[in-house]
Amino acid sequence: MQMNEKGKLLVISGPSGAGKSTVIGRLMEMRDDVCFSVSVTTRPPRPTEQEGVDYFFVSPQRFQELAEGGFLLEHAEYVGNRYGTPRGYVEQRMLEGKSVILDIEVQGAGQISRNCPDAITVFILPPSGEELERRLRHRNTDADETIRQRLLQAKRECAEAGKYDYIVINDDPGAAAAEVNAILTAEKCRAADRIKLVTEVLIS
Ligand code: 5GP
Repeated sequence: MQMNEKGKLLVISGPSGAGKSTVIGRLMEMRDDVCFSVSVTTRPPRPTEQEGVDYFFVSPQRFQELAEGGFLLEHAEYVGNRYGTPRGYVEQRMLEGKSVILDIEVQGAGQISRNCPDAITVFILPPSGEELERRLRHRNTDADETIRQRLLQAKRECAEAGKYDYIVINDDPGAAAAEVNAILTAEKCRAADRIKLVTEVLIS
């Protein structure tokens, strides 16, 4: 009976180094009704990153064309680079009943909340400022100045956490993923979405 449910839009934000990607990876192992939206960015790829898996890497000019053409559901600038969510992929997968996970920063999340009021927004918080800095340095792929900028940006982003529907602390990725899993499950049970199923029970 629940087969025809439309998917949810699940927005995950949190400072770089909060461990969002790990939590999202765990969540995707836990359930088969979710998929991940790969973003478009003008940032150069890091050594381990793959085109079409981590991001679609594009030139600033191509990004501008996509933004102007209405092909992005939201877009924002973050530490000198542009990032955006491909609209077509998200809309298609939701129609197919999949919940789509967006890993996006706070400005983009704000745009989604305004344009898609049914979206679920979750902020992933690192357990402490020290742990955040340790994770960013341990990643060791960015220059010192970039790490400094990302730390500053991280503090600014954490100040926005109260605008989200949920806050999950990522002390342990498995436990954090279990919390996000519970949030999505509960949101899929909302009466506003399932009330049509009541009618089906009553008339059959
Ligand atoms: P990174 O360069 O570390 O991969 O990502 C930097 C920030 O950009 C992260 O906070 C990430 O969530 C965000 N981001 C990634 N893709 C998008 C996107 O499509 N839109 C927006 N608004 N932010 C994104």
